[in-house]
Amino acid sequence: MTDTCIFCKIVSNDVTATIVYRDEQATAFRDIHPAAPTHILIVPNKHIESVNALQAEDEQLIGHLFTTAARLAKEEGIDRKGYRLITNTGIDGGQTVFHLHLHLIGGQRMRHPMG
Ligand code: 5GP
Ligand code: ZN
Repeated sequence: MTDTCIFCKIVSNDVTATIVYRDEQATAFRDIHPAAPTHILIVPNKHIESVNALQAEDEQLIGHLFTTAARLAKEEGIDRKGYRLITNTGIDGGQTVFHLHLHLIGGQRMRHPMG
């Protein structure tokens, strides 16, 4: 937990969000500015700044974020038609919140190209 991180505050319930899933390792909540009908952010409960800060000990946790994404995609009813999972890293990657997160985006055909 860092005092200034908005996602740490959502994990600790100090900031309100529409939480769709939570367990000991991860929290998932709806993006405040959805880019598609389904736009969920899946974050580790512990503060990890970005992919750059990952350690070998985080490998199980990262796998858990993906299996959580798969389950939520099913719950949202977008698993069969498909969806996009995005992790922006650093300024050039478009990261604006420096607490690692997966964007789960779906419910429409993706239009914008990579890059
Ligand atoms: P990034 O640009 O770092 O990949 O993604 C950050 C995402 O967090 C953005 O899509 C933005 O809309 C979302 N976001 C930023 N602040 C908040 C917030 O306070 N609550 C929620 N639910 N989403 C947020
Ligand atoms: Zn954080």
